Amino acid sequence: MSHIFPRHCHADIPRAVAGDGCYLIDADGKRYFDGSGGAAVSCLGHSNARVTQAIKDQADALAFAHTGFFTTDPAEELADMLIAQAPGDLDRVYFVSGGSEAVEAAIKLARQFHIENGAPERRHLIARRQSYHGNTLGALAVGGNAWRRQQFAPLLIDVSHIAPCYEYAERAEDETSEAYAARAAQELEDEILRLGPDTVMAFLAESVVGATLGAVPPVADYFTRIREICDRYGVLLILDEVMCGMGRTGHLFACEADGIAPDILCIAKGLGAGYQPIGAMLCTDAIYDRIAAGTGFFQHGHTYLGHPIATAAGRAVLQELAEEDLIPRVREIGDRFEAALRDRFAQKPHVGDIRGRGLFWGIEFVADRGARTPFDPTRGLAGKLKKAAFAEGLICYPMPGTRDGRHGDHVLLAPPFIMTDDQIGEVVDKLDRAMTAVFD
Ligand code: PLP
Repeated sequence: MSHIFPRHCHADIPRAVAGDGCYLIDADGKRYFDGSGGAAVSCLGHSNARVTQAIKDQADALAFAHTGFFTTDPAEELADMLIAQAPGDLDRVYFVSGGSEAVEAAIKLARQFHIENGAPERRHLIARRQSYHGNTLGALAVGGNAWRRQQFAPLLIDVSHIAPCYEYAERAEDETSEAYAARAAQELEDEILRLGPDTVMAFLAESVVGATLGAVPPVADYFTRIREICDRYGVLLILDEVMCGMGRTGHLFACEADGIAPDILCIAKGLGAGYQPIGAMLCTDAIYDRIAAGTGFFQHGHTYLGHPIATAAGRAVLQELAEEDLIPRVREIGDRFEAALRDRFAQKPHVGDIRGRGLFWGIEFVADRGARTPFDPTRGLAGKLKKAAFAEGLICYPMPGTRDGRHGDHVLLAPPFIMTDDQIGEVVDKLDRAMTAVFD
């Protein structure tokens, strides 16, 4: 009998014993192609020698030094590497152990910045429906996933949620993309005005929406407008790139594709590529300098901030991305992956939309393609698809609730950047068989 408190008490799951490139291997020797990198984590696959060696070397040299007493080479060097490539005025890096911690730090930094900037009345946060920012209470409160929030609602801080930028389901038939971008972004300005412009501290959004909507990029112009609105009212823009950042969408920082830069940015997942738990919050020099010139310290902290082994792994991940040219590769193989997905699935009667960027793709399923009507949620299609794909030896990430937390189903694909062309075929074939088993 197991003493693990698992995610699902009644699920019978295999024991993973090894990783080999894009595959995970269970105790019976069955191989699974990791088509979602777990949850968009394992960008380098499961046996990257550079990263595992860097972890061993760092453990031999120095396993832990508390950031209250010391800084370390791997943390300093990883911060330098990130800032050298970061967009806009991002200048400082605060290393944490995962995505939720990065989001918590971002929320608290935004609040402390305004206090030290002489605007303590700025206390309201605005985020978007159908978003996910993590499961700790602050991150859950900003998240707009109705199902995840439901039972914890009495514990959550008050956050305004505006519409996501979700063209497939929310652009009107007679509306251009530009008009839709303007309408979706206008919700932010309306909400700032409703709350009182001097009371809003930050707007938080995923650059490309991940698990909740299924790899939905913004339409052109949307984030330019959002940036303008934030600037107009002194509201900080926090971008959550925990899932879509670190090369996943074809740029190290996903917002580069939209030509904007945030005031605060959150990353995790691909930063450690699954080899170590690590996340980070990046902020501009203006925010940092305000704190430095004021109280001189960010009133936050965790024991494992800037952990030497985690930052050594992150440093090795960024070296691997650069030296193996993996981000241009994401764009190239991403194009071929997209073509293969469209070729095989676009005409299927239950496929409503295929969207994404780089190696981050979502397929949304509908009962009626013309009317874009989702399936009855009681059919439990996402769960069935996950099971059928797993039986085929494919790990993918299906989710229900695409439209409103309850209705809608999609599958998220986020394969390792080292995937080959043959493996594109393997993913598409396995997914096709799984979809046939569930829908036909
Ligand atoms: N933000 C986004 C966009 C995510 O996708 C996730 C996790 O899936 C998180 C935050 C939370 O990250 P973590 O699970 O590492 O706490």
